[in-house]
Amino acid sequence: MTDSLTKPNWGHTPWTIDFHPSPVALPEHIDFAVVGAGFTGLAAAAKLRRMAPEKSVAVFERVSIGAGSSGHTGGMVLAETAVGDLPGLGDMLAGYTKVLKDLEVDADLALPGVWEIGRTATLPDSPISWSDSGNLRAVREVPGGSVDPGRVVTGLARAAAKSGALIFENAAVESAEFESHSARLRISGKTVTANAALFATNAMSLELAGLSGRTKPKFTLAIATEPLRGTQIEQLGLASGKPFYTIDFPYLWGRKLRNDGFVFGAGLVHLQNWRELQDVDVSKGEAGNLIARLENRVRALHPALRNVQFTHRWGGPILIGDDWRPIFTRHPESPRSIVLGAFSGHGVAQSVYLGCWAAEALCGRRELPQWDSSGENEQ
Ligand SMILES: Cc1cc2nc3c(=O)[nH]c(=O)nc-3n(C[C@H](O)[C@H](O)[C@H](O)COP(=O)(O)OP(=O)(O)OC[C@H]3O[C@@H](n4cnc5c(N)ncnc54)[C@H](O)[C@@H]3O)c2cc1C
Repeated sequence: MTDSLTKPNWGHTPWTIDFHPSPVALPEHIDFAVVGAGFTGLAAAAKLRRMAPEKSVAVFERVSIGAGSSGHTGGMVLAETAVGDLPGLGDMLAGYTKVLKDLEVDADLALPGVWEIGRTATLPDSPISWSDSGNLRAVREVPGGSVDPGRVVTGLARAAAKSGALIFENAAVESAEFESHSARLRISGKTVTANAALFATNAMSLELAGLSGRTKPKFTLAIATEPLRGTQIEQLGLASGKPFYTIDFPYLWGRKLRNDGFVFGAGLVHLQNWRELQDVDVSKGEAGNLIARLENRVRALHPALRNVQFTHRWGGPILIGDDWRPIFTRHPESPRSIVLGAFSGHGVAQSVYLGCWAAEALCGRRELPQWDSSGENEQ
């Protein structure tokens, strides 16, 4: 296990992130600090600056924008959290669509619906009939769809930068000390003080975000196929372009790409400590075996996939909350700061939607939801 900040070998995705902020000197003081430049942090930063243009905002990212889950995700857009709807959540799909539109993010968003697939119940006219530990068929259609995650990361970062947020890459927040009216963040040997902070660090830096002991970091895998022919897509029952995920085990999810390739995902590497993420290598060990198993599973799903070639193999972190609920709470050491994460593999729309809510809460314009069974949301 290492604590180094070199880029781990999490493989290659079909996504492209083509925005990087220009380097500027670290500020000594800012109004709002956002820790983590994934979907959550970038959406929050853009929203903060738009809502409060007189306030300074800086995003500090350990590696580079999208280096965590957001640049390695599958990009399936889901309407609910991992535990379904929650009190006051509102219409997440409508909210997500609106944020992307308001921030002018060209996300390649499509919302044709999503297939829930399973091995027991089935739709009488299921277009899907695959072989995978039984007969895998469509069970139900739910709202949702997909985005190009590279475009979302790029678009959110551009929107944040355009609205005047400073974004720092290679700027790991090493520690945070809280005083009654400020947070003192230690970054690259310097101290930056902030009036308030949002911790959007997902599966990493769990101690910093006050999340150790109540969340479990995992690493999950995905592969992309070469473009399929129209006849193959028809035979698979996927001509509608709807993504899919299983509602029973073994778990499998997937989605179509613009080039008619398909992404399939499954498998979890279990970790004792989030620092082990740094050493996960998709070309070998447990992650490599899970990728090989996934390739064999996909080739065996249907005769149309028997000889399919894979163009991308990768993985990335996810953070599972104790009860699978998202964590959206005040920082345990500072009521002025907020912690948002643990989307339990359901974070594509949720991160952006709740990231904007976090920005409103930091500005004192909205209360946090009461989803936390431990009651830590109450100030
Ligand atoms: C393979 C895979 C497939 C997935 N598929 C789907 C899907 O289809 N649909 C869905 O809804 N969800 C999916 N998810 C989950 C979804 O991608 C995540 O929930 C979402 O991206 C989380 O965004 P985030 O901004 O909270 O976290 P992240 O994108 O992980 O961002 C956190 C950032 O914080 C940075 N950071 C950490 N510590 C520090 C520090 N100390 N200082 C500064 N920066 C720090 C990290 O480097 C990282 O960039 C998938 C995840 C994976 C890995």
